[in-house]
Amino acid sequence: MPQIQNAMEVFKLLDKSNCRLCEEATCLAFAAAVFKGNRKITECPHLEPEVAARYSDGVDQPRTMDQDAEEALRRMQGEIAKVDLAEAAERLGGRHANGKLTLRILGKEFSVDSQGRFATDIHVHGWIAGPVLAYILSGAGKAPSGNWVPLRELKGGKDWHRFFSQRCEKPMKAVADTYTDLFEDMVHLFNGQRVGQHFDADIAVVLHPLPKLPLLVCYWKPDEGMPSDLNLFFDDTAAANLAIEAIYTLGAGMALMFERIAQRHG
Ligand code: SF4
Repeated sequence: MPQIQNAMEVFKLLDKSNCRLCEEATCLAFAAAVFKGNRKITECPHLEPEVAARYSDGVDQPRTMDQDAEEALRRMQGEIAKVDLAEAAERLGGRHANGKLTLRILGKEFSVDSQGRFATDIHVHGWIAGPVLAYILSGAGKAPSGNWVPLRELKGGKDWHRFFSQRCEKPMKAVADTYTDLFEDMVHLFNGQRVGQHFDADIAVVLHPLPKLPLLVCYWKPDEGMPSDLNLFFDDTAAANLAIEAIYTLGAGMALMFERIAQRHG
């Protein structure tokens, strides 16, 4: 079936006479109804014969990002059945008991069974489920070296650092600027550790979104006309333990989570 991306693509195929034989007010209204799946394009009697033939079986709607993410998640859940969870627990810094692999995610326990089903006290979002499964399926389990680097210095990070800055660092900085309890929450709610001077930051907190994937959050307060700033740093082994796309997903999800917490409590 041919795929259409928007109502204008349908409109371009029509006669555009607004004759109303289809009982819609205009050709554009008809195009919108076709795009939504409420009408068939072949209900227009003025279609060119080759267009009518091409679209006689209807049209496919474009896939949404949510559909793609859901499909990827199902695929990864299916692959978990092939994983030795006991070996994975040892490799990834988790533990294995009662047929489940348990990892600590931001200080909370998160278990996965051999069917890829989750058991946890935290609400499971796609942003956490996808990276956790990716970590289990392909994480090398490299021990962190203690050498902090920005995302752009990780393998593949150059392609992602602009998105990462927009979707992770900027939103987190906006939260830190207005919600003064953010760093206390990181320590108390998410088992973060305040650490000493890193990159001359005023505040530095280390979080563990995954056992072998520490994340350093550095915040610089505004000072003498200089605006505040916030940057995230990863251990230089991060890309071996989690694919760069999954690191991005995790970071964007954490930014979203901190925004929600600040809205609720700020
Ligand atoms: S029947 Fe076809 S040409 Fe006429 S208004 Fe509907 S879409 Fe337009």
